[in-house]
Amino acid sequence: MQVLLVEDNTLLAIAIVKALKTAGFSVNHVERGKLALAAISTSAPDLLVLDLGLPDQDGLEVLKVARKSGFSNPVLILTARDSTPDKVQGLDAGADDYLAKPFEIDELLARLRALERRLGNVKSHTIAIDDVEIDTNSHEVTVAGAGITMSRREYMLLKALMESANKIQTRDALDSKLYSWGEEVSSNTVEVHIHNLRKKLPAGFIQTVRGVGYIVRHQSKQV
Ligand code: CA
Repeated sequence: MQVLLVEDNTLLAIAIVKALKTAGFSVNHVERGKLALAAISTSAPDLLVLDLGLPDQDGLEVLKVARKSGFSNPVLILTARDSTPDKVQGLDAGADDYLAKPFEIDELLARLRALERRLGNVKSHTIAIDDVEIDTNSHEVTVAGAGITMSRREYMLLKALMESANKIQTRDALDSKLYSWGEEVSSNTVEVHIHNLRKKLPAGFIQTVRGVGYIVRHQSKQV
């Protein structure tokens, strides 16, 4: 498990690196946002631990740029800013967890283990509903065992619907999912992609909930 630590407080960074290594993580450490982005684009870490107050740029900007460039692994924000608006901003920018300084190293380790478990689950996960199966690791989609080609956006929408089977996904929620993946979203984007998706899926797989959004109903088996 490769961790990238972005922290400009040298003493704190040394302590974290030592604790993570002892706990069995492999750690790279950088002190600046630009170096963090360079490291992420060269070799994406499994987990990113990100300080917000960095010498060259705000950690939130680093996070936004990383997410926009396709980095999708878990991010834990580490910061002295612990007011609620700051947390909300951090989570909105794509963070998975938030730890306010000062903190106990043991708590940091516990949270990283939790993110690691989530990563493991996501990586090996296939979701199967009726004849449709998606592999969230390889992004492969099959219908009755036959591979189906779809665009990135179609895949993202299908995954969102299948992950939340039996729950209505509003158009806004699906819009914002596309948006959070760095896609340009125009007013009818979701409708257009759903229309195209339906041609590739069994009839009735994606159902319209009039005036609200869409739903995939999970009627039989779940793998
Ligand atoms: Ca700092």
